[in-house]
Amino acid sequence: MRTAVVVGAGIGGLATAGALARSGWQVTLLERDDRVRADRTALVLWPNGVRALRALGLGDGLAAIATPLPDVGVRRPDGHWLVQPRPGLAERAPVVVHREDLHDALVAGLGDRVEIRTGFEVRTVRFADGDRPAVGDGRGSYEADLVVAADGIDSAVRRRLAPEAAVVSSGCAAWRAVIPWYRAPQLPPDRPVDGETLGAGYRFVAVSLGDRGSSGASTRGGIYWVATAAGASRPESPATQLGLLRRWFANWPAPIGDLLAATEPEDLVQQEVRELRPLPRSYGFPAGTGGVVLLGDSAHAMPHHLGQGACLALEDAATLRSLVREAIPGVPLREAVESYSRLRRPRTVTVVRQTRRMSAVLQARGRLALRARDAALGTITPRLLGSAASAAAQWRPPE
Ligand SMILES: Cc1cc2nc3c(=O)[nH]c(=O)nc-3n(C[C@H](O)[C@H](O)[C@H](O)COP(=O)(O)OP(=O)(O)OC[C@H]3O[C@@H](n4cnc5c(N)ncnc54)[C@H](O)[C@@H]3O)c2cc1C
Repeated sequence: MRTAVVVGAGIGGLATAGALARSGWQVTLLERDDRVRADRTALVLWPNGVRALRALGLGDGLAAIATPLPDVGVRRPDGHWLVQPRPGLAERAPVVVHREDLHDALVAGLGDRVEIRTGFEVRTVRFADGDRPAVGDGRGSYEADLVVAADGIDSAVRRRLAPEAAVVSSGCAAWRAVIPWYRAPQLPPDRPVDGETLGAGYRFVAVSLGDRGSSGASTRGGIYWVATAAGASRPESPATQLGLLRRWFANWPAPIGDLLAATEPEDLVQQEVRELRPLPRSYGFPAGTGGVVLLGDSAHAMPHHLGQGACLALEDAATLRSLVREAIPGVPLREAVESYSRLRRPRTVTVVRQTRRMSAVLQARGRLALRARDAALGTITPRLLGSAASAAAQWRPPE
């Protein structure tokens, strides 16, 4: 039987492990944490991410956990439109899902063919052309025809195979929270929750997950928000961080103040935003009867400005599944490993480039830069967002 080891049980690793198992592979999933879990935030899935989930055979459950997102445009803190809402084409409309719901769906998709080993932190990688690849934690090791490195931005596997890719700060920090529905502020109908506001070095995005859960449904509802601020992440306690956010975003348009007031310190998830620069030269490394592939953030971690990281991880998983579904160990599987890199690298380079342009616009600070940024936002951003949305909408899984 064809064997695979998947390192990392994030969105990318879970999606891949399930897809390989459903295609007849014997899969071992290694996770360094003591449990396979998601953080208590949410995620926007663009049409490419939704299409990838469908290609992975996980589309059916999506309707139950996803809330469609209206096109809300982008405002400045003074309320002026930077990008007017565009009447959304239905097929370009993204959806928002609670990460724990998506996680549950991906775990359900693992079936009983995946052996899960938690508390296993990969530290060593055996990679030599003649041997099957193997990974170990210093005490034990696993070898397989195919090793999938889905171990995130600090990937131990990538450090060994693509040392040229460096992890760097993107110059900003992000805070996320889901306010549970029972604590969500009551807003008048003319003040919708969903919206994006962009100021000098600061950004606030809020979307509603609805009142799922309160009706007895097993899915999670509430209001999800993401705040981004230029600068480093903060060492203070969550309560102090929340105080800072309330100060930074004071006087921003409603309902931002209401949402921050309804947020509790334990809702807050802070993260330094980091990315890979440069990207690895390749995402596929043939060896032995197959090889190693880099997948998700381990291959192409990028800032969250276009909300594409997880969508691309799902695209990676759907592409890999399609390439290796029929491939037998030996030359065909080695070729599939090379094809994966040939297909995925240019695709992700395009999205990373778009994200970096967005980063530059978002982080412009100072009066002059702000004026230039506003001008740029008025002209470049609709184009940039338009081309990013097209790139997202156009992706199709390989046959
Ligand atoms: C603020 C913010 C907002 C975002 N919003 C969106 C969005 O709206 N839409 C979107 O598509 N994307 C979004 N993203 C990006 C998205 O979260 C990531 O791209 C995605 O979660 C990456 O998934 P992954 O499985 O590749 O990696 P990860 O989620 O990092 O998972 C890696 C897993 O590997 C495990 N691991 C790590 N090292 C080892 C090791 N050595 N051995 C064993 N296990 C290991 C980790 O514990 C973890 O479980 C956002 C990111 C941020 C920061």
